[in-house]
Amino acid sequence: MQEFHCDSPACASHLTASTKDELMRQVEQHVKDVHNVDNPTQTILSYLASTVRDEAGFSAR
Ligand SMILES: [Zn+2]
Repeated sequence: MQEFHCDSPACASHLTASTKDELMRQVEQHVKDVHNVDNPTQTILSYLASTVRDEAGFSAR
């Protein structure tokens, strides 16, 4: 389970998906819909990707 917590204190959204690719699609949609970012740059997306946590429940390396 991939897990993303939005960094914005005003938002605090929590998104989950089974794969990181799927989660990043949700994250991209989230910043567009909620934060009015029409075209998130690669910099923003890679920053957001770096905050994604793998909540597998066991140590996956
Ligand atoms: Zn947010």
